[in-house]
Amino acid sequence: MTNSHRFVERAVEGGYGDGWSGPSDEINTYFVLLDPEAWKAVGRATGWSKTTGSGCGKEYFDAGRYACECPNWSQDTWLHNWHRFIDALAEGKTVDESLEEILK
Ligand SMILES: [Zn+2]
Repeated sequence: MTNSHRFVERAVEGGYGDGWSGPSDEINTYFVLLDPEAWKAVGRATGWSKTTGSGCGKEYFDAGRYACECPNWSQDTWLHNWHRFIDALAEGKTVDESLEEILK
């Protein structure tokens, strides 16, 4: 299973698509990656929050929650992780490589 399929599976687990079983092909799998609701759902299924951290590797614990050196760290953790994904793509990584660290 590719990481993009794992992402969709986790989004559905987090309530994305309201009982939908997920896309049938690769292109529609990629469309899910462009939907903020899917990222929020993956965050719910994975347990991303300010107290668990984003897993970006630049975090430090401060006053009972995680802060970090990323420019977008103060936003919601799902958004922080979506930025990590886009940054990895912009660096030339594939979709699957870009999701690898995020889905751990
Ligand atoms: Zn960060």
